Amino acid sequence: MQPLIDTEVLIVGAGPVGLVLAIALGQAGVRCTLIERKDAPQFLPKMERCNARTMEIFRRMGIVGKVRAAGLRADVPMDVYIVKALNQPPLLHHEYPSVDAARREIDKCTDGTLPLEPYQLISQYTLEPLLKSIAETLPSVTVRYGCEFLSFQQDDVSVSTKIKTSGKIQTLISRYLVGCDGGGSLVRQQLGIKLSGDGNLLRFRQALYRCDELFDRIPISGGPGHGRHYHVADDKATFLIMQDSTKHWTLHATLERDEDMRGQFEKTIGVPVKYEMLYVGEWKQNLLLADHFSKGRVFLAGDAVHLVIPTGGLGMNGGVGDAIDLAWKLAGTLQGWGGPQLLASYEIERRQVGGRNVAASTYASQGRRKWRGLWANLDELVRVAEVEQRKSNEMIGAELGYRYEGSPLIAGELGGPAHEFREYVPTTWPGARLPHVWLDGHKAIQDRIGSGYTLLRIAGTKEDASGLQKEMISLKAPFQVLDIPEAAARDLYGFDLILLRPDLHVVWRGNKAHASPRELAALATGHASPP
Ligand SMILES: Cc1cc2nc3c(=O)[nH]c(=O)nc-3n(C[C@H](O)[C@H](O)[C@H](O)COP(=O)(O)OP(=O)(O)OC[C@H]3O[C@@H](n4cnc5c(N)ncnc54)[C@H](O)[C@@H]3O)c2cc1C
Repeated sequence: MQPLIDTEVLIVGAGPVGLVLAIALGQAGVRCTLIERKDAPQFLPKMERCNARTMEIFRRMGIVGKVRAAGLRADVPMDVYIVKALNQPPLLHHEYPSVDAARREIDKCTDGTLPLEPYQLISQYTLEPLLKSIAETLPSVTVRYGCEFLSFQQDDVSVSTKIKTSGKIQTLISRYLVGCDGGGSLVRQQLGIKLSGDGNLLRFRQALYRCDELFDRIPISGGPGHGRHYHVADDKATFLIMQDSTKHWTLHATLERDEDMRGQFEKTIGVPVKYEMLYVGEWKQNLLLADHFSKGRVFLAGDAVHLVIPTGGLGMNGGVGDAIDLAWKLAGTLQGWGGPQLLASYEIERRQVGGRNVAASTYASQGRRKWRGLWANLDELVRVAEVEQRKSNEMIGAELGYRYEGSPLIAGELGGPAHEFREYVPTTWPGARLPHVWLDGHKAIQDRIGSGYTLLRIAGTKEDASGLQKEMISLKAPFQVLDIPEAAARDLYGFDLILLRPDLHVVWRGNKAHASPRELAALATGHASPP
């Protein structure tokens, strides 16, 4: 007998990853429930930068405007400084554009090297309540705070989960369970999946301050200008981060005692300011990757499966990538058109990205450590930091250039461009994200593409798409053929035909219609046998 299903997908953890997954599933009409043990989102500091890829994803989800409106003003630069204190001339200054300036560059860009959306500084404590409010508007999404995951059991058709809410234990039956429950993931532990790599590398104390006057007083007596990060050249690895309101700041330092975080803030500013310390806590640096991302009907995403040092900002941003990859695969499976390889591909695709992100973060943090170790010799520190600090802030290759290799959903071609952390080289190599291109009337190609599979027919090709269309229709998979007459797209993409998945990664490309539309449709939708 079929069990009574309470919800199709149960998501544990309303951090940014669980929230994005809930919204993406809700937008696809999937009935899902998101549970969170906290009673409400908390005003605690953590991440502050959504990278360009996350912002492109938010654009496709139709929420990019809300995220920008809640985040940092578009005219504030994202510069990074190394200083002795904020009232002294900077030792090093790396310029990074404000959103406005980045957008001007993107508007002019015609070679696909830039993303469609610039990054956005938005503090995690602003982003989470915003995403929660969006999730709550979706009719198929139920959001339950004050609700703790305890344990689960799974069989071939469903997952039975015990949860605790208002002191009572309840059981929820779902088709799938997704653990987005952070670094200490209980879901992962109950699956018996281990994290491998280096844990507990360095312990930081972090404090959150409200200081209304600081932003307006910068530059202070010839000190650095407005920026995002101010690293202090000292033996405590101190750094100050501007938060989205410009009135809140966080300071990180390897200090032993909470009470020392006041003196450290005052020393970093260098002049008296009125401020309030709102929070002090501790966090640890980790470089860890889970051995698996799923087992049976239970999946894991975000910090539950990869923990990186924030150098490079690939933590939450990597988790958003997981959520968006999993969402359309769960939707396709539940809607009945997805084959067995659709969900099986999740671990294959996202674990390799997790591994590359851990490697990118290791590379960046080693660079940081190199110059940090030279605090007693400032000239040498500056010389080394000029090269090494850039590794933390210039990760465009890791952000945009990830490409799925060996996936059962991708028509693999032999070879393929190298995976670079620092440099993004636009490509339509199968598995890659479709590079951004402006079409006539300054329209972004992304905005022309619908939410299902899309066959792009570029620059007037007359190749027949009806075979593929027929096969996709017979599988009941969402599919459109989109004619893109613009030569700019042909020049950049290098092919007349490109088959895209709902997440805008390339399945297949060619200049002639695929020899077997049936095989191609089966591959794209997860019905083909694994390679
Ligand atoms: C100082 C710092 C700066 C950072 N900066 C950046 C940055 O700029 N860019 C970036 O991409 N990343 C950054 N990160 C990393 C980023 O904060 C994390 O990667 C992100 O929070 C992961 O999101 P998540 O949803 O996977 O997990 P979490 O944010 O940890 O959320 C997990 C949620 O699950 C809930 N939960 C746990 N167990 C249960 C249970 N049993 N039942 C119910 N609910 C449960 C928790 O309460 C929590 O709300 C930074 C991290 C730190 C510490």
